[in-house]
Amino acid sequence: MLILVINSGSSSLKFQLIDSEKKQMLVKGLCERIGIEEPFFDYENGGCSIHEPRQMDTHKDAVHILLETLLDPECGVIGSLDEIAAVGHRVVHGGPHFSHPALVTEETKEAILKSSGWCPLHNQANLTGIEVLEKAMPGVPQVAVFDTAFHQTMPPEAYMYGIPYEYFEKFDMRRYGFHGTSHEFVTRRAAEMTKHDPASFRLITCHLGNGSFFAAIKGGRCLDTSMGLTPLEGIMMGTRCGSIDPAIPPFIGKLGNCTPDEVDDILNKKSGMLGISGVSMDFRDIQAAAAEGNERARLAVKMFCYQAIKIIGSYIAALGGLDTLVFTAGVGENDEMIRKSICDGLAYSGIEIDQERNLIRRKEAILSTEDSAVEVFVIPTNEELSIAVQTAEVLKKTDA
Ligand code: AMP
Repeated sequence: MLILVINSGSSSLKFQLIDSEKKQMLVKGLCERIGIEEPFFDYENGGCSIHEPRQMDTHKDAVHILLETLLDPECGVIGSLDEIAAVGHRVVHGGPHFSHPALVTEETKEAILKSSGWCPLHNQANLTGIEVLEKAMPGVPQVAVFDTAFHQTMPPEAYMYGIPYEYFEKFDMRRYGFHGTSHEFVTRRAAEMTKHDPASFRLITCHLGNGSFFAAIKGGRCLDTSMGLTPLEGIMMGTRCGSIDPAIPPFIGKLGNCTPDEVDDILNKKSGMLGISGVSMDFRDIQAAAAEGNERARLAVKMFCYQAIKIIGSYIAALGGLDTLVFTAGVGENDEMIRKSICDGLAYSGIEIDQERNLIRRKEAILSTEDSAVEVFVIPTNEELSIAVQTAEVLKKTDA
C-alpha cells in the first residue's frame, strides 16, 4: 500500500512516498522557503535527484510540484495518483483529545485547531498541509498522526505539574511529550527483538539527537517521557536548555532586560550543548573540540551523559526495574563514546555492553553482552515509516 507522508511546517513541506507493507521508502523530498525568498526543491529517487530553486508562493504550489514530480516519466515513481492509497500527516499536538491517529474529517480538523494548545504555529502549519492535500487529491483518505498520542497513556501523577490546578483545568497545562512516532517505532521493533514478554517488558527508549528525549514504557504503553508541555523540558539538547530551575527564566529576563519572547529564544536556541560548549550544537564538532582539549566542550559532553544517567535512573525506579534499553537518532545510533559513558553510569543495574559491538554505527544491533541483566539495542528510528504504518492501520480499521 503506497502512503504519501507529509510533514508540513510554516514555510516548508517534507514528504516521502512509502510502501507500508514492504516498509520501504520509494522517494523523498523537501520544499523549502515556501512563500519567502529563494524557495528550493529537493528530491531523491535513487539515481534521479533534483536540487533546484523553484517558485513556491504557497503550500498549494509546493504540493503541485511534488505531485507533478511523483508522476514525472523520468524522475517519478507512479503512473497515476490513484496508486496512492492515503496521505499520512504529521501533526505536532493532539492535546488531551487524541490518543491514536485519526482519519481526517471536518471534526478532526476542528479538534486539531483546538488541540494546538502550546504549539499553535505548528498545528496551523500541519493543518495547512492537510487542507492543501485534501484539495489536490480529492477522495484520497487523509490521516493525522499525532506526536503527542503515544504519551497519552501516562498516568496523571506523571503528566501533572505542581502548579495551581486551575492552569490544568482552564488551559490544559500539563506534560504531553513529543516525537511519539519515534518512540512508537523503536518500541514496536524492540518488542520484536526482545527475549522478554513484549506484553510486559520494561523498556526505556533514548532518542539522542539534536532534540533528545526519553520514554519509560511498560508492555508497549508509555508511563513517562522527558519532554513536557513543550519540547524544552528534559535533558539539555543541541540548543535547548532542558530542565532548569524554574526561577532562572525571570532572572535572565531581569538581568538582560529581555522580553518573555527573548528569554524563550535564549532557552530554546542559545542554550544546551551550544550554550555550554560555545563551539556548536552539533555533537560531532563538540566531540572533536573535546578531543583537542576544549574544556567547555568536555563539560558539555559530561553534563549530557550525567543528565541522561539521572533520567534513565529515575525511569528504572518508575518502571520497577529494566529489561531493555534502546538508543536511537543521530547521537544514539552513532556516538559510541556517549553510549559507553551512559551504560557505564548504569552498571549498578546490571547493564553490560560489549565494546566491539558498541562500535556499530547507523545499524540495528544488540550491544549487550550475553551476561548483561539488561538488553541494550541500537534501533535506527524512522518517524516517516511509523507515520506510514499507522496511516495504513487506520485505513484497515475504518475501511476507508
Ligand atoms: P538527529 O537530530 O537525529 O538528526 O541527530 C543529529 C545529531 O547527531 C547531531 O548533533 C550530529 O552531530 C549527531 N551525529 C550524527 N552522526 C554522528 C556521528 N557519526 N557521530 C556522532 N554524532 C553524530
